[in-house]
Amino acid sequence: MKIIHTIAELRAWRKTVGTVAFVPTMGSLHAGHMSLIHAAKAAAEHTVVSIFVNRLQFGQGEDFDRYPRTLENDAALIAEQGGVDVIFAPDEKELYPNVIQQYQVTPPAIAEELCGAFRPGHFRGVATVVTKLFNIVEADIACFGKKDFQQLFVIQSMVKDLNMNIQILPVDTGRAEDGLALSSRNAFLTADQRNEAPRLYHHLSRMKAAIEAGDRDYSKLAVQAVTDLRVRGWHDIDYVDTRNAETLKAASNTDHKLVILIAARIGSTRLIDNIEVNLD
Ligand code: AMP
Repeated sequence: MKIIHTIAELRAWRKTVGTVAFVPTMGSLHAGHMSLIHAAKAAAEHTVVSIFVNRLQFGQGEDFDRYPRTLENDAALIAEQGGVDVIFAPDEKELYPNVIQQYQVTPPAIAEELCGAFRPGHFRGVATVVTKLFNIVEADIACFGKKDFQQLFVIQSMVKDLNMNIQILPVDTGRAEDGLALSSRNAFLTADQRNEAPRLYHHLSRMKAAIEAGDRDYSKLAVQAVTDLRVRGWHDIDYVDTRNAETLKAASNTDHKLVILIAARIGSTRLIDNIEVNLD
C-alpha cells in the first residue's frame, strides 16, 4: 500500500492500473468507513482511499479546527484490513493552491434544505472537493455512505447532471451495537453523552415503526421525537423530517419510499442520522 501526497504521483500511478474504486473520507476512520472500503474492494481491481479534511465544507464557527486528524492511525487501520492500493492524503496547498477555490460546484436548491439550511455552503464545499477528487483519481466507482443521506443524494444528482463518468455505490450505515451511527464526531462525546446518543436512532426506529403501521402524520411524529429529545438535554434540534427517499422532497401520504432524517446537538457535538422506510 502506498501513501501518496501529490496529485502528480497519484496520476502517474493511475495510468498504470485497471479499474479503480474510490472511497473519499476525512479520515479518523472507523468501522463505518471500513464497510465502504470493503464494498470498494469488491467493486473494482484497485482501491483508493482519500483522507482530506476539507475546509471548504465547514462553516465559520464549525469544528474544522478540532476535527480529528489521525493519519498514522488511519494508515495502520487500512493496512491491517488489507487490499487497499493507495491512500491519497494531499495537504491543503496541494488541493487548494489558491487561497480561495475560484471555480466551485453549486448544487441545486434541495442542498439548501435539511443540513444545508443549517450549514450554508456546506454542500457546495462537498460537491466542489468531490469533483476535484473525481478529476484527480479518475475512478470507475466511488463509494458513499447512506449515513450522510443528503450528501449521497447531492453527489448522485451531481454525477447525473454533470455527466460525470463514474458510478456511485451507496453503502449502508454502520452502527454500534446500541444503534448509534458510527461517526468520527462520536469521539467528542463524554461518557454520559455517548450513553444518550443512541436516542436518535431509537426515535428514527419508532417513527419508522409508526409509519409502517399506517401512521402518516409525519409532523406529529416529528414533534413527539423533538419533545422527548429536548427533555433529555438535546438542543439545536435542527430537523426531524420525513422525505421522499428518491427526490428528498417533503414526503406525501402516498409515497412508498421514505427516509426520516434527523440532526441534533448533544453538548457541543452535532450528530446526524437517518432511516429508510420502504412501504412496497
Ligand atoms: P467522512 O469521513 O465523515 O467524510 O465520511 C466519509 C465517507 O464515509 C462518507 O461517504 C460517509 O457517508 C461514510 N460514512 C461515515 N460514517 C459512516 C457510517 N457509520 N456508515 C457508513 N458510511 C459512513
